[in-house]
Amino acid sequence: MPPGRLHETPGDRRPSQMIMTGLGRDRIRLIAHPFFMMHTLPIPPCGAILAAGGTGSRMAADQPKQLLPLVGLPVLARSCRLLGDLPEVSEIVVVTPSAHRAACEAVCQDFLPAPLLARLRFAQGGKTRQDSVRAGLRALSPNLTLVLVHDAARPLADAALLQRCLERAVQTGAAIAAVPATDTIKEVDEQGRILATPERSRLWQAQTPQVVRRELLEHAFALAEREGFQATDEASLLEHAGIPVFVAEGDPKNLKITRPSDLRIARALLENEKQDSSMKIGHGFDAHRLVAGRKLILGGVEIAHPLGLLGHSDADVLCHALMDAILGALGLGDIGRHFPDRDPAYQDANSLHLLEQVWRMATERGFVLGNADLTVICQQPKLAPYLPAMQEHLARACKASAERVNVKATTTEGMGFTGRKEGIAAHALVLLEKTHAS
Ligand SMILES: [Zn+2]
Repeated sequence: MPPGRLHETPGDRRPSQMIMTGLGRDRIRLIAHPFFMMHTLPIPPCGAILAAGGTGSRMAADQPKQLLPLVGLPVLARSCRLLGDLPEVSEIVVVTPSAHRAACEAVCQDFLPAPLLARLRFAQGGKTRQDSVRAGLRALSPNLTLVLVHDAARPLADAALLQRCLERAVQTGAAIAAVPATDTIKEVDEQGRILATPERSRLWQAQTPQVVRRELLEHAFALAEREGFQATDEASLLEHAGIPVFVAEGDPKNLKITRPSDLRIARALLENEKQDSSMKIGHGFDAHRLVAGRKLILGGVEIAHPLGLLGHSDADVLCHALMDAILGALGLGDIGRHFPDRDPAYQDANSLHLLEQVWRMATERGFVLGNADLTVICQQPKLAPYLPAMQEHLARACKASAERVNVKATTTEGMGFTGRKEGIAAHALVLLEKTHAS
């Protein structure tokens, strides 16, 4: 279906082959240009505003929808990565209410690679979406002349869709993703009585991204502010200012996560795509000697015992086996290579912190934890009461939910060095899943 101009009425036959230049409503100049340009115009410096204002009230969840997990990655992190994939976007402003700012920042720190974090900044949202996007616009560096606004709750948009919107906006001044309406739409009054049935062929459902030349958006905001006009999307603001806005072909898959059923659909769509994504498996083994005068720490949990494990760090054998398994899956050698035991920096180091550093290497490469299965080989003490806490610590370090990490303990029935209580050993297996290109 060819993209058309929004709100084109039968009496308004101004050709759509127009782009707008110049500032201000009165000084708007329209110049003709071909509707379908066969060549691609260069994309000017672009900044993105990610509106992450949801409260989760319709999700029946105890946290905002943008923080909910979606196949290994929180919704917000997915949307950030999506924008981060566009080389044209040099800056991303995440606009979030102050109540969720810390949680949103933590999610970004945990799940985004460093080069993307460097392009990210945060701004405080306002009461309405309009206020929030305006706050985002103010936070963007002044040299950025094209603005892309996207809902954090639309994590399934793909790079091709974003590219279509960018290119259409460069050609026309303003473009939004939209899909033709498939349902017949009714206009109703307060009692629910149908007033009109607009012709479906002319109806499109607006999505995001909405991309616009910055000067046009600033003009539309200034006008709306003067006139007290409130809109639910940026296109409406531009329309109100008399600025033509065009549609770019959206994608029905680019759904907005608003209700719990949307999250289920999004999961199903991603799981389906994941089938051809890559997985990595890794194995780790470690053993340490038991001695007097040391704490016994396993999986980040201190265990009451007269003996502890000997080592340069805290000698958390379970953490070490898991780190080796992750490094193995990533093809990055072993812990000795990354944390040499001659390095004083790692003397008595908390191995959970080292595990977090290893996990960052997985995050940087686009992986999430599929699952980990660990076995501690230990004659004494009994570890069963400590296993759930170990699972929790290890999962947290790998930014995964606790059920993705399984820790079990076994003895060797008195045989071998572990059976003679000379030491404790651990095996770890991990499966890493690539949910996103790194
Ligand atoms: Zn070790």
